[in-house]
Parts: sequence; C-alpha cells; structure tokens
Amino acid sequence: MRQPEPDSVLLSRLVAAVPEPVLGLCRRLRQCGKRGWVVGGSVRDLLLGRPVQDWDVATDARPRQMMRFFARVVPTGIRHGTVTVLVGDAGYEVTTLRGEHGYGDGRRPDRVEFHDDIARDLARRDFTINAIALDPIEPCLVDPFGGRADLARRVLRAVGEARERFAEDGLRILRAARFAATLGCRIEPDTLRAMGEKGALETFAKVSAERVRDEWLKALSAARPSVAFEIMRETGMLAIVGPELLALHGCRQNRHHLHDAWQHTMLCVDACQGDAVLRLAALLHDVGKPATRAVSEKTGDHTFYSHEEVGATMAEAILRRLKLSGADRERVVHIVRHHLVCYSQGWTDAAVRRFLRRVTPERTEDVFQLALADVRAKGGDEQADTVQIEKLRARIAAVAAEGSVLSARDLDIDGHALMRELGLGPGPLIGELLDALVELVTEEPGPNERGKLLDAARAHLAGRAHE
Ligand code: ATP
Ligand code: MG
Repeated sequence: MRQPEPDSVLLSRLVAAVPEPVLGLCRRLRQCGKRGWVVGGSVRDLLLGRPVQDWDVATDARPRQMMRFFARVVPTGIRHGTVTVLVGDAGYEVTTLRGEHGYGDGRRPDRVEFHDDIARDLARRDFTINAIALDPIEPCLVDPFGGRADLARRVLRAVGEARERFAEDGLRILRAARFAATLGCRIEPDTLRAMGEKGALETFAKVSAERVRDEWLKALSAARPSVAFEIMRETGMLAIVGPELLALHGCRQNRHHLHDAWQHTMLCVDACQGDAVLRLAALLHDVGKPATRAVSEKTGDHTFYSHEEVGATMAEAILRRLKLSGADRERVVHIVRHHLVCYSQGWTDAAVRRFLRRVTPERTEDVFQLALADVRAKGGDEQADTVQIEKLRARIAAVAAEGSVLSARDLDIDGHALMRELGLGPGPLIGELLDALVELVTEEPGPNERGKLLDAARAHLAGRAHE
C-alpha cells in the first residue's frame, strides 16, 4: 500500500504552490502581529493538485487595519470584511474572519461580526472540503470538519446540520450539484437528502438567475455535466429553474433512439466536445421534443416535426430568463435551430452551399460537434451517421475553399452600385435584388462577376414587371 505523505512533506508541497504575492501578503500580516490563511476553493484545489483560479485569503486583521498595513488597498466589500490588496497589477481579496447571522433574503447574511477564530470562520462555510485553511507562514493546516479525509474519499458533506445550512442560503444546494460534477464527488447521504427538502428548495427558489447561470456554466465545464443535472432533477431544483428540461424526462422517443429524451440529452451533453456554451446548446437541443411529439399514422411511431424550430424559440426564452449574454444566447439558439444534420450522398454542391449559408461558416463547427454528440447519444449504431457527418464536413471544406458566395457581402456588386447602374432609389427592392443574386450564385457559382450580376438583376426586374 502507498504510504500517506507525512504532514511536513505535504505542507512544503502546498506552500511551494502558493504564489509569491500571496505569501508576501501573509508574511506582511505576520509582521503586523496578525495572520493570513489561504482558504476556501484555493486550499481545496491545492490539495487536489488542481490549478487554483482565485486565491481566497482570510485574516484576523480588521478591514480598517488592512487599509493601514498595505499601501494599495481597495475597500471592495468592507462592510462584509473584504478588501482587495493590489500587488503589481493583480488584486487579492482578503476577508476578515467573520460569523454570519440571519439570512432574510436566502442569499446574504443580514449581519456579519468580525472575530479572531479561524475555526469559527471555517464553520460558516458550505462544505467540509471548502472549510480548510492553510497558514503558509507557520506552516500548518486547520481542518476542523475532516475536510481532508472527505476530499481524499471524494465526499461532499455539509458543514454542520445540512438542513439548516441549506435553508439559510439557497445557492448551496446548487453548488453541491456543481461540485459533484466538477470534482467527481459523491454527495454524502444526509447532505443529499437535505438538498431535496422543502426548506432548501424554497430558499433555492430565491437565488438570482445570474447565480444559476454561473453555476450551470461551471457544471457544463465538468468532464460529465450530467452528474450535476441529474442531481438537479432528482432533488427538485430543475423543476424550479428548468421545467422545460424536466419535461424531457420520461418523454419516450422512436425506433432511432434507445433512450428517453432526458437520458439522451444527458448522454449528449457529456459527449459534446466543446466549451460550456456549446454544451448549453447540447443541453437544450431537444427541448422542443415534448411539445412536438406526435404519432405517425403511417408507422405508428413517434415523430417530433419542427422540434428544432420550437426548441430554438424555447431556448431563447430560457436563456433570456437565465440572463445569458446576448452573444452567447444568439449562438446557442442558432445551434439548436440547426442541430439536425440530415446529409445524404445525393446532395448537390448547391445544397451544400445552402447548408453553409444557413448555418454560417462561423457556426458550422459548433453544429458538427453537436451533431456528432447527438449521434453518439442515440445508443445505437453510430458508425453510419458519424460517417455521413464527416462526409458533409469534407464537402463543406471543399465548398468553402472555393470562396463561395454566402451572403450579399461576398457578391461582386453592392447595393450602391446596383442603384447607380439600374437607376433605382434606395428601398426594399435593393435588398430583394441582392437576395436574389445570392440565391443565384448559390445555385450556380459561375456568374459572380459584376457584369453578369447586373444582367441577372435586370432579368429579375423584368420578371417582376411581368408578374
Ligand atoms: P470555485 O471558485 O471553484 O467556484 P469556491 O469554493 O472557491 O469554488 P467561491 O465562490 O470562490 O467558491 O467561494 C470561496 C469559499 O467561500 C468557498 O470555498 C467556501 O468556503 C465559501 N463559500 C462560497 N460560497 C458559499 C456559500 N454559498 N455558503 C457558504 N460558504 C460559501
Ligand atoms: Mg473560488
């Protein structure tokens, strides 16, 4: 059996991984007769050997003292005890040890009180693995709730009485679902049970959309986001923040699918290679299925006609509600709308160009990645469908290399020239002409030359006059 690492070796390894500005900060606090501890997610990630994103530092110095001890300090959240110490062009958040009282809004404590007891500060934190402190100067670890042991066994356990802690602050149960996915933890049974209780869910319902969005995006960055979303569904969180997704559960599909729409969605999100926003599209890609489910008279099997259009509209509403940024929302909705890739060998080059025009070059890779994951998640023979997608990808690459016209911007003539040459004034007719020319060049890539385009525009006008 592997011997556990002696504490002294572990401590030197941890301290060596703390960046110099953070060590300097703690050293300075010590010179001033105070202490600094690395706490929260930073210690957790250090112990796991993962890259640390933000360094959380706790201190027994009061905020006013902090302002005196350091030359460049920003009083970021001074009422709650947080200041930002500037070192070079980086800022480090330092928070005074505190206790919290009353959670009227289910999110923030009504009152905080400063004190000198690191163990008491750790007691207000959410999970044992997030309630460990490292004094890098002494050096020593403070771990009053067995966080290290839980971390080693990958167990997520609430600090204190889970039911009370979740009724105080509604974000905690969502963080639990997220950590289960990002850290690959299993949730300790009492903690898990408390997550689904009425008090916890009532407080969860008060969490702001922005916080839900941020947690979803973090969960979607995990190796297997399905772990988080299954927990959200089982505990009742999904019914509150994503009822449209919950409707996928138990929505039986057809002979192309082994799984119901929910299981399929979970497999698809996990299989989807890409960033969190692309995976959000995977999460929502079939959200239109329950509303479009019908039985075919011919085959007696289920159909889901237009589920991608209906789903795009639903995704738009869900993402507005979640306050996703406009650019990310536009991207997800576009991918959901175009996620069905039904390529067959018989497609003409014009059909390939039409596909590229519809999906747009910048979104083609997104749509392919989702389509590949979608195929993998069907639970059948994926080989044939994957081959078709790869074939379309190759044909798209060939068409793109020809410098095809995909929008009016690519035409060898613009609206001004059209007006000048044809003696027309500005108006919707010019847009119509440009669209007609793009159509023409998509079908037959030959005539993207100014003279030929003008002839075609004249012919279009003549045809219009005859109508
Ligand atoms: P990450 O930064 O990876 O999202 P984290 O655990 O560091 O995870 P932060 O929001 O940076 O999360 O919070 C830092 C620490 O503050 C946590 O590790 C935890 O100790 C404490 N904390 C954060 N949110 C809560 C909460 N809702 N309830 C109790 N303690 C919390
Ligand atoms: Mg953090």
